[in-house]
Amino acid sequence: MAITKKQSAELATQVFEYAPAPEAIDHVKIASRYGLFIDGRMVDAHSKKRFPTINPATEKTLSEVAEADEVDVDRAVKAASKAFESWSHLSASRRARYLFRISRLIQERSRELAVVETMDGGKPIKESRDVDIPLSAAHFFYYAGWADKLEWAFPNRKPRPLGVAGQVIPWNFPLLMLAWKIAPALAAGNTVVLKPAETTPLSAMVFAEICMQADLPPGVVNIVTGAGKTGSLVVSHPAVKKVAFTGSTEVGKLIQRSIAGSGKKLTLELGGKAANIVFEDAPLDQAVEGIVNGIYFNQGHVCCAGSRLLVQESIAEPLLEKLKRRLSTLRLGDPLDKNTDIGAINSRAQLEKIQGLVESGVEEGAELYQPPCVLPERGFWFPPSLFTNVSQSYRIAREEIFGPVLSVLTFRTPNEAVEKANNTPYGLSAGVWTDKGSRILWMAERMRAGVVWANTFNRFDPTSPFGGYKESGYGREGGVHGLLPYVELH
Ligand code: NAD
Ligand code: MN
Repeated sequence: MAITKKQSAELATQVFEYAPAPEAIDHVKIASRYGLFIDGRMVDAHSKKRFPTINPATEKTLSEVAEADEVDVDRAVKAASKAFESWSHLSASRRARYLFRISRLIQERSRELAVVETMDGGKPIKESRDVDIPLSAAHFFYYAGWADKLEWAFPNRKPRPLGVAGQVIPWNFPLLMLAWKIAPALAAGNTVVLKPAETTPLSAMVFAEICMQADLPPGVVNIVTGAGKTGSLVVSHPAVKKVAFTGSTEVGKLIQRSIAGSGKKLTLELGGKAANIVFEDAPLDQAVEGIVNGIYFNQGHVCCAGSRLLVQESIAEPLLEKLKRRLSTLRLGDPLDKNTDIGAINSRAQLEKIQGLVESGVEEGAELYQPPCVLPERGFWFPPSLFTNVSQSYRIAREEIFGPVLSVLTFRTPNEAVEKANNTPYGLSAGVWTDKGSRILWMAERMRAGVVWANTFNRFDPTSPFGGYKESGYGREGGVHGLLPYVELH
C-alpha cells in the first residue's frame, strides 16, 4: 500500500517506544575483592590497600580492587623478568599456540566479558558485545599469526624481543586496549606488567583468569591495579625496557620526561580532536550516520572521535537539520539495555570535565543544541550535544572534550577544509565524506592524521596500524607496524 508524502513525513518524525531489553547478568560472577595477578596467580597486595570500582550508571560499588605499591610493582616486574628468560626462548609456534588459546577463551567468555565491561565502565552493551570484545579476540588471533613469522615481518633482519614491557591503559576501551598492548608484546617474545585504569579494572581481572585457564607460563603476563601512582611505578621501574602508554597528552608528556635518558623504548597514544569533513557531494544520510557514530559512540570517550564536524557551507543547513533530527532518536539510559545508544559517562570527574567545557562553549558564544532527553536520576549522564556558531579559537574547538559533544564548523573550499582540519595540536584521525575518489585521495594526502577514514568513521581492524601525529603521540599499534615497538632489529 502506497503512503502519501504527508504520511511519510509523519512517520519520519515519529519516535518509537522500545520495551526494555536488558542483558542478563546472572551468569556473571564479580568477586567482592580482587588481588593482583603476579607470577601466574592472584595474590594479596603488600600495600594491603584497596579501592572501590563502581558502576557509573548506578554509582553502586561492584568490587574492591588492590592498590599496588612499590613492593607489589617490583614483585610483578621481577616475575616478568624471570619469565622472559624462558618465554623469549620458547619456540615461536608454541608462543602462537598460547595466543590462539587466549583469543579462543575471550570468544568463549565473550558474553561475560561484555557484561563486565558495560557494568564497570558504562558503555552500551551493544558496543561491548559487538565491538570491544570481538575486536579484542581478533587482536590476539591476529598477533598469534605473527608470532612464528617475525622474520617475514622484518625481512633480512633479526628481530629480538626487548624484555619486560610496562603498559598503562585508559578506561574507554579497557579490554581492547589491554589486547592492543599485550598481544603484540607477547607475540614478539616479551613479557608484560600491565596497569588497567582505576575506574575499569574488572575485565583485566577476568583476563587474568583467562591467562590461568590458557596455562600461560607464570609471569608472562602480570596485572597490577591502582591509580596514577601505580602507573608511574610501572613505567619508571629500572627493569622495564619498553613503555607503552595510552591516555591523556598531559600524562604522556610526564612519562616521556620521567624516562628520558633511561634507554627505555616508548610509544604514546594520546588525545585527539579529529575533523570529520563532509563535502557537498557526499550522500547526506550516510554522512549523518557516520557523524553520529563518530562522536556519540562510547559517549564520545574515544581518542579518535570525530569531535569537529567540518561541513561545506552549501549543505550545512540540510545536513544539520537531518543531524538534529537523528539526535532526537538516540536512546540514552541503562547501558545493559540492548536498545541503548548512549550509556553512562565513565566517572564523575569525566562528567565534570565535559560540563565545564560545554559551559565554556556557551560563554564563548557558541549555540548549544540538545534534543529533549530525560537523564536517569542516579549515575553520570550527559545528553548528546552539538554546538553551532563555533569559532576555531573556542576551547570546544581546540580541546579534547572526551564526551558526547560535537563542534560544528563550516568551510567553502577544499583548501579551507584542509587548513581547518589540520589546525589542531593533535593528529590522530580524520574522516572525509565525498562522492569523488580523487578527492578522497587528495584529502588523505593532506591530512596530518594517523588514520583517515573515507565515507565511514571509527572503523577498526587488527591488521591496520593506528597512532598519531604531533600531540596525539607516536608509534603505531595494530598491523605489522604494531610489532616494531616490541623488537630490536639486528
Ligand atoms: P590519564 O592519562 O590520567 O589516565 C590514563 C591511565 O594513566 C590510567 O591508567 C591512569 O591511572 C594512568 N596514569 C595517570 N597518571 C599517571 C602517571 N603519572 N604515570 C603513569 N600512569 C599514570 O587520563 P584520565 O585522567 O583518565 O582522562 C583525562 C583525559 O585524558 C580525558 O578527558 C581524555 O581527554 C584523555 N584520555 C585519552 C584517552 C585516549 O584513549 N587517548 C584515554 C583516556 C583519557
Ligand atoms: Mn568502574
